[in-house]
Amino acid sequence: MIAIVKERPGPGLTLKRVPVPGEPGPHDVLVKVKRASICGTDLHIYKWDEWSQKRIRPPQIGGHEFTGEVIKVGDNVTTVAVGDSVVAETHIPCQKCLQCKTGRMHICRDMEILGVHRDGVFAEYVLVPEIVLWKVDPSIPLEYASIMEPFGNAIHTALVTDLTGKNVLITGAGPIGAMAVAVAKASGAACVMVSEVKDFRKDLAKKMGADVVIDPLKEDMPTRVRSLTNGDGADVLLEMSGSPIAMKQGLDSVTNGGIVSLLGVFPGDLAFDINNLFTFKGLTMYGITGRKMFDTWRIADQLLKSKRVDLSPVVTHTFPAERFEEGFDLMEKGLSGKVILQF
Ligand code: NAD
Ligand code: ZN
Repeated sequence: MIAIVKERPGPGLTLKRVPVPGEPGPHDVLVKVKRASICGTDLHIYKWDEWSQKRIRPPQIGGHEFTGEVIKVGDNVTTVAVGDSVVAETHIPCQKCLQCKTGRMHICRDMEILGVHRDGVFAEYVLVPEIVLWKVDPSIPLEYASIMEPFGNAIHTALVTDLTGKNVLITGAGPIGAMAVAVAKASGAACVMVSEVKDFRKDLAKKMGADVVIDPLKEDMPTRVRSLTNGDGADVLLEMSGSPIAMKQGLDSVTNGGIVSLLGVFPGDLAFDINNLFTFKGLTMYGITGRKMFDTWRIADQLLKSKRVDLSPVVTHTFPAERFEEGFDLMEKGLSGKVILQF
């Protein structure tokens, strides 16, 4: 089969022929990958930054966001069958730790990540454990199904609290921030404000339904947020940029007693005035990792099936797998939403 492989330590990825994965074990499922999408994590691996050098053991197939069709199932598999359309949680839970045993598999202490700790989905076929599969409604277009994983990040982050009638601030309109705009709108937010520095992404936020897009390089973000909210500030902050400056500005923009939902991954330690920006304001902060298994997936499925959320503006490019490098290049320059690869 064709696969996109990190062949050896160093920058780049290679498209090459590799063997199809072997027979599924008793709890495994062989899936024919139909669409895979490129994530920021794949870009880290492509560039071979410090993060990937510590984690990736080449040779390894990359990618983790995908949709496909079940081709073969192991003897003990009962929840999916040959021919089913599926998507998959990319965090493979150990099913043994305290968190897994108490219904919180998304914060498993010993999870394996598809395309990071084991061969990923940038290939014609992938072998995955049954536990991570979610049967997806075949009426959902393949492009949207293939981005249900990052869409789930947006859902998980946005829905930590009831957004009905709330003023919501989203810092960072990358693909996930842009999708969170639509989730917040679908949930009845009164005003969805977005801060973003790149023009392409500002446009994306608008297309996804943002009421106001603020460029923090051109105006004072907290001042603008207060002026948009009757002097109060945002009720809810969704941090989706991974920028320490945006985090600080975001906290400054939240009203006393507000909620902070934190998805962005920062390059290092944060330094900010926690007394005045957090404690004395009586804020509540949630750390978000991955997606809830499988509450988030069900919501993603329902929002797409019911067309409450339209992901078409986020899917900006689709390439045959052979042209993966063009996709990585666009992502790197911030000139894309989600880039989808066809296998
Ligand atoms: P992305 O890098 O494409 O998007 C981040 C956006 O933030 C970019 O458009 C960038 O221009 C913007 N930005 C940068 N500095 C800014 C600033 N000062 N003010 C406003 N905007 C600014 O990333 P993505 O794929 O959309 O993911 C969003 C974040 O979530 C990333 O930090 C990513 O690492 C993180 N993430 C976390 C998890 C998790 O489980 N916690 C999962 C996936 C992604
Ligand atoms: Zn576990």
